[in-house]
Amino acid sequence: MDSAPPERDAALVAARQHFDGGDFFNDLARRVAIPTSSREPEHRPDLAAYLNAEIGPTLAALGYRWRCLDNPVIDGVPFLIAERHEDDALPTILTYGHGDTVPGMEGQWSAGRDPWTLSREGERWYGRGSADNKAQHSINLAAIGRTLETRGRLGFNSRILIETGEEVGSPGLREICQAETEHLRADLLLASDGPRFVRDHAMIVLGTRGVINIEFEVNLRAGAHHSGNWGGLLANAGVVLAHALASVVGPRGEILVSALKPAPLPESVRAALASCRFESCEDDPDIDADWADAQASAVEKLIAFNTFEILAFETGDPAKPANAIPPTARATGHLRFTVDSDPETFVPALRRHLDEHGFAAVTVRQAEMPIMRATRLDPAHPAARWAAASVARTCGHSPMVAPNAGGSLPNDVFAELLGMPTLWVPHSYGGCSQHAPDEHVLEPLLRQGLEIMTGLFWDLGESALAGEAPWLDAGRDPVRNPG
Ligand SMILES: [Zn+2]
Repeated sequence: MDSAPPERDAALVAARQHFDGGDFFNDLARRVAIPTSSREPEHRPDLAAYLNAEIGPTLAALGYRWRCLDNPVIDGVPFLIAERHEDDALPTILTYGHGDTVPGMEGQWSAGRDPWTLSREGERWYGRGSADNKAQHSINLAAIGRTLETRGRLGFNSRILIETGEEVGSPGLREICQAETEHLRADLLLASDGPRFVRDHAMIVLGTRGVINIEFEVNLRAGAHHSGNWGGLLANAGVVLAHALASVVGPRGEILVSALKPAPLPESVRAALASCRFESCEDDPDIDADWADAQASAVEKLIAFNTFEILAFETGDPAKPANAIPPTARATGHLRFTVDSDPETFVPALRRHLDEHGFAAVTVRQAEMPIMRATRLDPAHPAARWAAASVARTCGHSPMVAPNAGGSLPNDVFAELLGMPTLWVPHSYGGCSQHAPDEHVLEPLLRQGLEIMTGLFWDLGESALAGEAPWLDAGRDPVRNPG
């Protein structure tokens, strides 16, 4: 590997000094100390405090103009939009994060830890919201700061969106992005959330799987009837629904309805998958190797396939079974899918399938929960290739490039509504206990994450100032945003 120009090195040195000198820990500790639990109404004021007292002033010091916006669909769950405008001729980068967390679960943390106090033990830094998502966006803001301090300017126009309702389903995110399109459009989204697949291997994620919940129901008659008097004469709703579901998903979790399976993968996705592997952490459950498809790798099953789960199934009264034939049964199915499927086709396809297999008595409908759409930047897109090269230059190994995550995020708001390529660089790992007691981040990953992001922001500015944007689609004009 040839030696990097000295200024890039200087930015990386500044990043390491910022981290090793304790500034990063102190910033994160202040942020963790604001109990931004969005599911508990009593913590709603903390959401606004996080933006107004913490993120806004941090960005103001970096030359951003910022404002807080009320959420258009729910009270007390605000957004922050910030902009640092350098030059009309430069491209624009959007960075996203969420300041809210799940509840603290006080009293359930080991060693008597307080969820709202960032505490160190070995390489672990414990605190609610540390992994999800405060350390992740704090790294990205610190990397912007180091780039700015080393170069004197970023070399691009920077926009930042921080929401505070991610843990309650991102209410209002779509509406805000619609209303503020002119202030959020960009040439590229560069953001961080979620875990790496392998803790010590850098990773770039290009999209998300989508998710839809589907309700199945059998309702045969008005009441239960004694099985001694009526058994053999009346159909059992539980038996009918069990067989209907068994025709949809096989004994090893394999999807049996072809319309629920993704179309064949594009070649660029296959090639990217070959760079990825999945490694479980010490407290993870053992993987059932023969589940879904014994031929496929764990990574293929996790991110390249569609998966169908049964989340719940009820017939009769499971707590107090009665010797009677249940008249009703219901189940909730749950499908994670990639962009290679059209979610609008799932319910009609299931209806046809059930009719063809003699299950006309089973009703099927989309559950109340809205569909989360799937997204995926083509791994052959210039932004994906450019970012992988930048990360490799910083950490000395090629990152895994995952075409999409296994989980879901409202990434379609950025990819489709705002129409930009999306790059996610996760700074956490699978064992981080996010959403549980003992949530933590790992010091070496944070330090490396800060280097990676500083390298990425540095390289973005360097190419943009040289009048190039090798990460833009050929022929696409940069977003113009007169400041
Ligand atoms: Zn979360």
